[in-house]
Amino acid sequence: MAHVLIIGGGPAGCSAALTLRLRDADVTILRSGASALEKAKRVDNYPGLPEMAGSDMQKGFTQQAEKAGVKFQNGLARLIQKTRRGFTVLAGEDMIKCDAVLLATGIGRIARIAGEDALVGQGVSYCATCDGMLYKGRPVAVVCQDASFKEDVDFLKGICPVDYYMEKPHEAPEGVVLVPGKPTAIRAEGERVILTAGEQEKAYDCVFILRPAVALSTLLPKLEMNGEAVKVDEKMRTSVEGVFAAGDITGAPYQAARAVGQGNTAALAIAQYLNEKGENK
Ligand SMILES: Cc1cc2nc3c(=O)[nH]c(=O)nc-3n(C[C@H](O)[C@H](O)[C@H](O)COP(=O)(O)OP(=O)(O)OC[C@H]3O[C@@H](n4cnc5c(N)ncnc54)[C@H](O)[C@@H]3O)c2cc1C
Repeated sequence: MAHVLIIGGGPAGCSAALTLRLRDADVTILRSGASALEKAKRVDNYPGLPEMAGSDMQKGFTQQAEKAGVKFQNGLARLIQKTRRGFTVLAGEDMIKCDAVLLATGIGRIARIAGEDALVGQGVSYCATCDGMLYKGRPVAVVCQDASFKEDVDFLKGICPVDYYMEKPHEAPEGVVLVPGKPTAIRAEGERVILTAGEQEKAYDCVFILRPAVALSTLLPKLEMNGEAVKVDEKMRTSVEGVFAAGDITGAPYQAARAVGQGNTAALAIAQYLNEKGENK
């Protein structure tokens, strides 16, 4: 049975998952946090579910998908790589193999530090457990957006001296040196990287940036974009064969009903793609 990995468990992801299960695909939803819908106090424009809290609506979508046999896995997709047979997706320390991928990650509002992009893989890492050992015993910085990266920080502080910076206020983990001020710039100087926060500049061997979302340019570098939105055709196919996209990630208007509709269209296109490849048998 073909395996489809859906990245994002909001309305678009859940809708696609349901239809794919009806087409006999093995479906996993990988999700890294709450759906945008969960933040809606009340939704008045979704047919059949009047005056419902967004969190209740999302709960219904998730439960229906679970009942249909969709597997849910918590984790942040960090990198999608094409293989001879399909794809491998790096999520935490797991490598998930699949035959097709649906991107349903919502709006990627990712504030980046000035200079960050140019140094990815050259002193900037997004994965403590993947790259941490390369810097064993050497001074590193961790830039964190929230407290959800405890495991990654625990791993790093066990092998390196760690300075900890916050992008948004949250409770700092124990055993790290908390540096005040929000990081604003990062640049290379010889073999080291210099991180600026407020008035202070400090040099490190690596800066680990841990956020609950990943820029699409990092997740799948070859993906064609239309401004901030992923470029798709009428079947929700992206520029990368075997990778589809649905929901807010494809641009405005940002609406639950639209996300659900696009998830459904994408699922049917994925089923067709797998049949043509001879995978869904
Ligand atoms: C306050 C508020 C009120 C709203 N009110 C309404 C309304 O009244 N009516 C209406 O129609 N719409 C409303 N919306 C919009 C609606 O919620 C969105 O259009 C809808 O949730 C989009 O669904 P989606 O599946 O595309 O993305 P999302 O619901 O954003 O789901 C994306 C999921 O992907 C996950 N994810 C992201 N990156 C990764 C990664 N790298 N790896 C793993 N998982 C990842 C996220 O954690 C999230 O769970 C509202 C939104 C907000 C914020």
